[in-house]
Amino acid sequence: MTEASTHFDAAVIGGGPAGLAAAIALAQAGTRTALVARRVPYADNRTTALLGASVELLETLEVWPRCRDKAAALEIMRLVDDTGRLFRAPEVRFSCHEIGLDAFGYNIDNRSLMLALEERAAELPDLVRFDDEADSVVIGDADVAIRTASNKFLSARLVVGADGRHSLCREAANIAVTRRDLAQTALTFNVGHARPHRNISTEFHTPHGPCVFVPLPGNRSSIVWVSAPAEAERLRALSDEDLSAAVEKQSHSILGRMTVEPGRNLFPLAIERPTSFGRDRVALVGEAAHVVPPIGAQGLNLGLRDAADIARLASEAIAAGQDPGTSEVLRRYDRARRPDILSRTFAIDIANRSLLNDFLPLQPVRAVGMQLLGAIGPLRRFAMREGLTPTWRR
Ligand SMILES: Cc1cc2nc3c(=O)[nH]c(=O)nc-3n(C[C@H](O)[C@H](O)[C@H](O)COP(=O)(O)OP(=O)(O)OC[C@H]3O[C@@H](n4cnc5c(N)ncnc54)[C@H](O)[C@@H]3O)c2cc1C
Repeated sequence: MTEASTHFDAAVIGGGPAGLAAAIALAQAGTRTALVARRVPYADNRTTALLGASVELLETLEVWPRCRDKAAALEIMRLVDDTGRLFRAPEVRFSCHEIGLDAFGYNIDNRSLMLALEERAAELPDLVRFDDEADSVVIGDADVAIRTASNKFLSARLVVGADGRHSLCREAANIAVTRRDLAQTALTFNVGHARPHRNISTEFHTPHGPCVFVPLPGNRSSIVWVSAPAEAERLRALSDEDLSAAVEKQSHSILGRMTVEPGRNLFPLAIERPTSFGRDRVALVGEAAHVVPPIGAQGLNLGLRDAADIARLASEAIAAGQDPGTSEVLRRYDRARRPDILSRTFAIDIANRSLLNDFLPLQPVRAVGMQLLGAIGPLRRFAMREGLTPTWRR
C-alpha cells in the first residue's frame, strides 16, 4: 500500500449497523473513507424497528431497496399497562394514519439489514475496507494514526468511533462515560403465531420492564422481553414448548398460539452517556455515543441520525476546503447530536423507571400521562411525530 492509499479524510472504526451507515454516508458524499471492521456474520437475532427518517436515510444510501422485502410495516403501536397495580393506565393506541402516514416505520431483522449495508459498502469507490480491528488509535495535531491488529497502519483527519460500548476511539479521545447498570435483562427471540398481527406492535408494560411484540413479515413477530436478570436466564433455559406457552401467556393470547423459532439472546440493560459526542478529531456514533434500554425503538434510530450528521458536517467542511477533523467541526457535531441524544435518553429512562416497583411516586404520574395521551388527540399526534423525528430536524 502506498502512502496516499493509507491516508484518508475519515476512518470509521467498527462495522456494526451504525458504523456501516456512517461509512456509506461519508463515502457516498465523496469523502475518502477507510472502514476498519471485521467482516463477520451478524451474531444475534435482534430486529430493529426503523422509524420514518431512518428509512428515508437508508433509501438515500441505496440500502433500503436491497432489504425492504424482509421488513414488516408498523402501522399501529399499542401500549398496554400490564402491571396489575392500583394506578393502572388505560391502553394507548398510536395509529400512523392519524398523522397522515402509511406506516410509522418498518421492523427488520438486523442480519438482513447488515447484509444490505455490507453489499452497498462494497460498491463505493471512495470506501476502502480493512477487514481488521483497530489495535491502537493515537491522536496527533494534524491527523489520527491507527494501527490494526494485523499490523497495518493508516491515518485519517477525522475518526468516526462506531466501535460500540467499549469504544477504543472514545478512550483515545479521553472522553469519560457515565454508566448505570439497570438490573434488567432483555431476552430476544422470534415467534410464529396463529393469528395475523395486522401490522400492530404491542408493548406490554410489566413491573419488571416492557415485553414487546413487533411484527415481522408473515404471521411472525420479534419479541423483546425485559425482566429481572435471573428471570431472563430462567426463560432462556426453557424448552421450546415451555417458552412458547410462557410468551403466549404474557401476550394474553392476542396473536393466538405461539411457536418459538430457534435462537435466543440475552442483553443486560444499561444507560451510557459520554461527556462529549466529539472532540480531538474523534466523533462518536451508535452505541459508542449512547446506550439506552430498548423502549420506544430509539437506539439504532439515534445511531443512524449520528451517521447522517457526521457525514454531512465532514463533507461540508471538505467542500469548503477545510479539515473535517478540526475542533470546530466536532463542536458542530456535538451541538447537533446533544439535544437529540440527551432528550431521548431522559425520556426512555423515565418511561422505564415508571414501570419498576421501587419507583412508586412515578406510577400515578405515569397513569395520568398515559390517560392524557389516550384522550387528547393533538397531544397524541405531537407524541407520535416527536417519537419519529425530533422537531428541529423536520
Ligand atoms: C434487545 C434490543 C432491542 C433493540 N431494538 C431496537 C429497535 O427496535 N430500534 C432501534 O433503533 N434500536 C434498537 N436497539 C438498539 C440497537 O440494537 C443498537 O443501537 C445498535 O445495534 C448499535 O449498533 P452499533 O453499530 O452502534 O454497535 P454494535 O453493533 O455493537 O457495533 C460495534 C462494532 O464495532 C466493532 N468493534 C469494536 N471495537 C473495535 C475495534 N477496536 N476495531 C474494529 N471494530 C471494533 C464490534 O466488533 C462491533 O461489530 C435494540 C437493542 C437491544 C439490546
